[in-house]
Amino acid sequence: MSGLIRSFLAPANTPETQFPLNNLPCGVFSDAEPPRCGMAIGDSILDVQALEARGLLRFGGTLQTGEWTEFMALGPDAWSRLRHDVTGLLAEGSPQEAAVRPFLRPQEGVVLHMPFRVAEYTDFYASRHHATNVGTMFRGVDNALPPNWLHMPIGYNGRASSVVVSGTDVRRPWGQVKGPDDSAPRFAPSARFDIELELGAVVGVASDHPLSVTEADAAIFGYVLLNDWSARDIQAWEYQPLGPFQAKATATSISPWIVMSEALRPFRCDTPARVVPLPDHLCDAGPMLFDIGLEAALAPAGKAETIITRTNYNEMYYSAAQQLAHHTTCGCPMRTGDLLGSGTISGPQKKNRGSLLELSWGGKEPLTLDTGEPRSFIEDGDRLTLRGAATGDGYLVGFGSCTGRVLPAVNDPYARDET
Ligand code: CA
Repeated sequence: MSGLIRSFLAPANTPETQFPLNNLPCGVFSDAEPPRCGMAIGDSILDVQALEARGLLRFGGTLQTGEWTEFMALGPDAWSRLRHDVTGLLAEGSPQEAAVRPFLRPQEGVVLHMPFRVAEYTDFYASRHHATNVGTMFRGVDNALPPNWLHMPIGYNGRASSVVVSGTDVRRPWGQVKGPDDSAPRFAPSARFDIELELGAVVGVASDHPLSVTEADAAIFGYVLLNDWSARDIQAWEYQPLGPFQAKATATSISPWIVMSEALRPFRCDTPARVVPLPDHLCDAGPMLFDIGLEAALAPAGKAETIITRTNYNEMYYSAAQQLAHHTTCGCPMRTGDLLGSGTISGPQKKNRGSLLELSWGGKEPLTLDTGEPRSFIEDGDRLTLRGAATGDGYLVGFGSCTGRVLPAVNDPYARDET
């Protein structure tokens, strides 16, 4: 594994920074000017939009649009060239240091926006630990894993319209929930609102035919942290037979920085051993997962946070490349900006579970936060924050954070305002 690539910016060379030169994640930021494309470096942002406008980078004007979508569509050669060119500009001893310095901004104080236009959003269910835990709670231990689960990565088509960037508040949803008996559902605010700690894969290269796992892997531009907010009481009532619908459609939060696949290459690892053989077209062609440490924190309103879980992306049974390949097997076209949620990332132990549903075992075993409060599900005013980083030899490749605060439900979303 290669070591830290040193920059002329000292804060980018510390072992603690999320954003050394090895990382160079892609985001969209604004200060006094409209939103524009930038890359995080140390505690700064490099304004690549301005650098391209002045001819220091050349990508056909794709960095001038205030989002990364058009650049992503250029494909892997351009992605690699951008990393190469920016690394050259920012490296220790760079002859361009004086020319580049005017295009660096402090991260502090800028507003971060959605880094790309989400074309479609698909969510998978690819952690065996998570699927086993949830299946045990919903259907009993004997039917925990559905019969198809070990043969393909199960997913459903979600909503691009409800994907929001980190920092966006989320309003507790109303929905239909099961009453004390099956015959009497109620319309009420969700009392079991939850997080799902996931990683999102961002498709860069569009396709219109079935992809191999290798082709799928090459089509993925990068990864983001993803919190798939989930109303468990709505989900438990609505999910059969067509899967989640309203329970997952309130919001899905993503981190503002896309960590490019190439930055994660040193952290590749194998998926776990197969319980049953997969069909050839879904088999890994090499290490397709990544060793990325992940955590979720919960902070009640006005109080300090508690880390409620720590897990790792290397726990997944299926990689994003396998998920994308499976997604295309029927001929489903994929677009630049397609977002694929990994599914909740749970590890083998209770402390590694990626949702409150699992951590509190359906509310039967509430957590006690460091501040003393019990929690089974999210309370109004709680702030939930996901973080993640891959750990190299003396450096990190970090994702930053993905945070959101839950606001109280409105009184009645259908009440008429008579004033
Ligand atoms: Ca999910």
